[in-house]
This record gives sequence, C-alpha cells and structure tokens, in this order.
Amino acid sequence: MGVLDLGIPTGVITGDNVRKLFNYAKEQGFAIPAVNVSSSSTINAVLEAARDIKAPIIIQLSQGGSAFYAGKGLKNDNQEASIKGAVSAAHHIRLLAKDYGVPVVLHSDHCAEKLLPWFDGMLKADEEYFAQHGEPLFSSHMLDLSELPKDDNIRICEEYLKRMAKINLLLEMEIGITGGEEDGVDNTNVTNSSLYTQPEDIYDVYRRLRPISDLFTIAAAFGNVHGVYKPGNVKLTPVLLKKHQEYVKSQVSCDTDKPLWLVFHGGSGSVKDEIREAVSYGVIKMNVDTDTQWAYWEGIKNFYERKKGYLQSQVGNPEGEDKPNKKYYDPRVFIREAEKSMIERVKEACRDLGNENTL
Ligand SMILES: [Zn+2]
Repeated sequence: MGVLDLGIPTGVITGDNVRKLFNYAKEQGFAIPAVNVSSSSTINAVLEAARDIKAPIIIQLSQGGSAFYAGKGLKNDNQEASIKGAVSAAHHIRLLAKDYGVPVVLHSDHCAEKLLPWFDGMLKADEEYFAQHGEPLFSSHMLDLSELPKDDNIRICEEYLKRMAKINLLLEMEIGITGGEEDGVDNTNVTNSSLYTQPEDIYDVYRRLRPISDLFTIAAAFGNVHGVYKPGNVKLTPVLLKKHQEYVKSQVSCDTDKPLWLVFHGGSGSVKDEIREAVSYGVIKMNVDTDTQWAYWEGIKNFYERKKGYLQSQVGNPEGEDKPNKKYYDPRVFIREAEKSMIERVKEACRDLGNENTL
C-alpha cells in the first residue's frame, strides 16, 4: 500500500489528489520535503531524487527563485519577471514530472504583502489554466502575512482562499513569526514571544478558513528559524504543534486526533529527533532550501578541488601541456556534479521525514 495505490497519479497533482496525499501522510506519520528550486537544473535534481527514493515530492519557487528562473537580466518591475519565471518553471515541471514517475505538488513559497502582485499574477495563470484543463497550473501557493496584525493576516487569507477554492487550489498560510532571514525578509530581531504561535491563534485561523475550504495548511512558529545560523535563545519546541492539534480538536470535536495539516518552516540545520517529533504531530510538509543550496555548491567545490589541475586553462593539464580540458569545464560536467550532490541531500531530507518508498 502506498501513495499510488490511493489512485493518486504521477506528475503534478492538484485538488482532491493533494487532499488524499496530505491525509495519507498525516495518517501514516510521514512528511514531504518542499524543496526550493531556481533553475531547470535544480528542478531536475529534485525530480530525480524523488524518483530514486520512490516518493512524492513538493517543488516550490520563491519570488526571487522565480525571477532567477526568468533570468536576472530581465527587469522585475511589478513582479513581471517573477510571474513569468514561476509560470515558466511550472510548465517545465508539468511537462517532465510524469516522466520521472512521481506525484509532484507544485507550490509557490513565501509571499509577503509587498509581493502580492506576484501572487496575483500566478493566480491569474491558474485561473486561465483551469478554464482550459479543469485544474489550476499550480497545486498550491503560500501567503506569508505573519508580520501583519493577526486579524489582517487571516482576513486577507480568507479573501484569497475564496478565490482559490473555486479552482481547487490549496493555500498555505503562516501565523507567528519564523526567525532568521529568507528571500529579503529579515526577522532576526523580532521579540521572542512571537516566535511561538499560540493554540488560540491556530484555532482562529481554522474556524475562519475551514468554512471556505479544507484545502489549507498552516505554518506555525515553534521556535523555528529560516536559514542556518546560531539561533541564540530561540529553542525549537515541536510539542507546541501537538497542543495546536489538541486544542482545535477540543473546539470542533472531529473524529481525527490531528485535524490540522501543519507545515515546518526553517527546518535546515534542525536536529533529526526534533524533525521526527514534529512530523508525529501532523507536520506533512517541511521546507528545505538552505541545506540543498549548500549541497549544490559543495558538489562544484569538491569537483574543482579534485580536478583543479584540469580547470586552469582550456588546454594543458597534469597529463601534458597540449591536453584539452573541455570535458572538465563543460557546464554539463560541473553542473551535473552540483546536481548529484543536491540529489543526495534531497534524498536525505526524504529519509529524515519518513518519505522513502512511500509510492
Ligand atoms: Zn515561513
């Protein structure tokens, strides 16, 4: 029994298939890594890792990653490049995901209030795709309005979820503040108490979004930090997630012990035991970015160190001064080394989350 036995197809999945996947992961006690990508190379590496470890995967694009996909030479006024880069990457993933034989949740990462034109542009592309194909282009999008007052955060999420529910899109929202810095949003100086979301806040989100659609996930702050750096006196407290589940259950009296789909942000650098504990409380998605960025770079770094004598000029290496070096500096060679290293790190993330041989 696995994900494919539930009738979930390979390739990009949306709507009811995402619902089935997340419920299955929650019941079985595993989570799916959401890996940030910014190029065709990083996308293909993630797909290859998922295929090799026989597991579903979440591929996500940030606003900056989307602009990079479109090309840094393009102007990004009004988020034009970020919109087109995200749509372009989405089509790349849709075209190839089936060939890798794994279900893929296609997601966009943190969208803060100032980046809403990017979100709006992707949503328009989803609506157009839905009109043609009966499903949205993406599987889900994330709104991060956690720096706004709670009521404003939830109200704007309600408005977007109403529009998204019509085309079976899932919304990920964030409440409480994840520390650290990511994609230009710097939260390194926020007060300690806001780094831990309270159960009452989670219930406020649940009772206001649930009547609109069940397709939403919540990223709660439990002392997690974006990026890898010394977190000082911030302590990861996964047991808070258990309290959220218990509190919501006590308010709505449902038949499951874990009524919420929870998301773990800022997982890079976390202790494996803490990750496993968080997953046991209903985390079904964990973001992975910093660690796979390092892995990609490390692949090139190690290759360069290994082949240094072959990478100083087009011709001439330790084997002779007229020997050509093309097979070392061809981007297909050194970028492939980056991919191989990233593939291993994505597989490690899958193993950490119990997402291995889950197809
Ligand atoms: Zn976050």
